[in-house]
Amino acid sequence: MDTVGGITKGGLDWTPHFVEVINTEKCIGCGRCFRACGRDVLSLVGITEEGEIVAADDDEAERKFMTIAHPEKCIGCEACSRVCPKDCYTHAPLPLPAAVAVAG
Ligand code: SF4
Ligand code: SF4
Repeated sequence: MDTVGGITKGGLDWTPHFVEVINTEKCIGCGRCFRACGRDVLSLVGITEEGEIVAADDDEAERKFMTIAHPEKCIGCEACSRVCPKDCYTHAPLPLPAAVAVAG
């Protein structure tokens, strides 16, 4: 299967692993991944006792977790995953036809 690839500055092959899923059950809402991501992909949200998703700073938020707000901006660097203390992230290479669909 052909996937989206690139090269490093030194001409070495590099395969991006794009963010696919954040395990919101394991997430503790620490925000480390948000600070590590330079691409505006992630967004911290809150959830109320009734299960309603609200702004992270909402007084009704019982707990917070990270979400993938803008997957189309991800460059597959995996910085978010490296700083996550709870191993919440799943990443994967992007098949080429899907890449064309995203670009279009
Ligand atoms: S893989 Fe990189 S660009 Fe994508 S969400 Fe994680 S830190 Fe951001
Ligand atoms: S670093 Fe991990 S635990 Fe912390 S907010 Fe991000 S996904 Fe959640």
